[in-house]
Amino acid sequence: IEYDKGQGWHDARIVPYGPIAMDPAAMCLHYGQEIFEGMKAYRGDDGSVYLFRPQENFKRLNSSCERMCIPQMDEELLLESLKMLVELDSGWIPAAKDSSLYIRPFIIATEPKLGVKSSDSYLYMVLLSPSGPYYPSGLDPVKIYVEQSYVRSVRGGTGMVKTGGNYAAALKAQDEAHEQDYSQVLWLDGVERKYIEEVGAMNMFFVLGDEVVTPALLGSILPGITRKSVIEMLRSWGMKVSERRISIDEVAEAYKNGQLKEAFGTGTAAVISPVGELKHGDLVMTINGGKIGPVSQRLYDALTAIQWGRAEDPFGWRVKVK
Ligand code: PMP
Repeated sequence: IEYDKGQGWHDARIVPYGPIAMDPAAMCLHYGQEIFEGMKAYRGDDGSVYLFRPQENFKRLNSSCERMCIPQMDEELLLESLKMLVELDSGWIPAAKDSSLYIRPFIIATEPKLGVKSSDSYLYMVLLSPSGPYYPSGLDPVKIYVEQSYVRSVRGGTGMVKTGGNYAAALKAQDEAHEQDYSQVLWLDGVERKYIEEVGAMNMFFVLGDEVVTPALLGSILPGITRKSVIEMLRSWGMKVSERRISIDEVAEAYKNGQLKEAFGTGTAAVISPVGELKHGDLVMTINGGKIGPVSQRLYDALTAIQWGRAEDPFGWRVKVK
């Protein structure tokens, strides 16, 4: 779907995957005016194909547009066109258990211009890619460390929207983590350098005693759709969930007191990713003996059962494509 100033969004079409021609001066290539979403289509045992809360992705797409000066889109049109595309490509969902079709809607600024301003033309595209099971050999807890020097985002910046610049800013820390055999870094807030934000592509949760705590949405972290679903699900089970500021010192203190029961990340790719080791400076916290805990396991089982159509959907989160 294309956008031109004065004309609005126009020319929706589905074309086979392939390279696109672009002007070398297209503004997205120089000034990073682009946004994206990430979601999945799942095939149930009876052949039905589902999306998980796609309306939430399109709502977030529009809030990313708003922050990045990109004209907003009609969320109903986006959903209807995505259903058509997924139906057409549903044969690409791998047959292997727990596989899915990853969906990447994105918008780039296409006006050829060397001056810095918001573009007068845009292109919305969706690409689809088959995706194997995230945990081929079971839910393996990850090792992460608290990032001590780099900052990913600050309030008033773009951390709460999905734009490429956030990920570019995180690459250096991610590469250094990989060199040290850690899978991710845990970001702290950019001002006081003590409040927990999120990890690479996941929101964070901590089970402290009988309370589940997740950082509040204060404008510097992405409002994850898995995060939102996990909060609703835990509350429906009668568990206490707090969205609030949580400092790394509070987590370390809870660890020392034996109150840090579990830590896990949430995101479309991993669903629930248990953290087995969390390193903060010299303090190495081994959580739940480095194994997945009961809350993480129960959430993983319940969420994936809804996503793959293996269980009732009391929340109305599934959208059937076919
Ligand atoms: N934080 C960031 C920075 C992410 O890229 C993602 C993945 N979209 C998430 C959190 C998790 O969001 P969601 O649950 O919507 O996938």
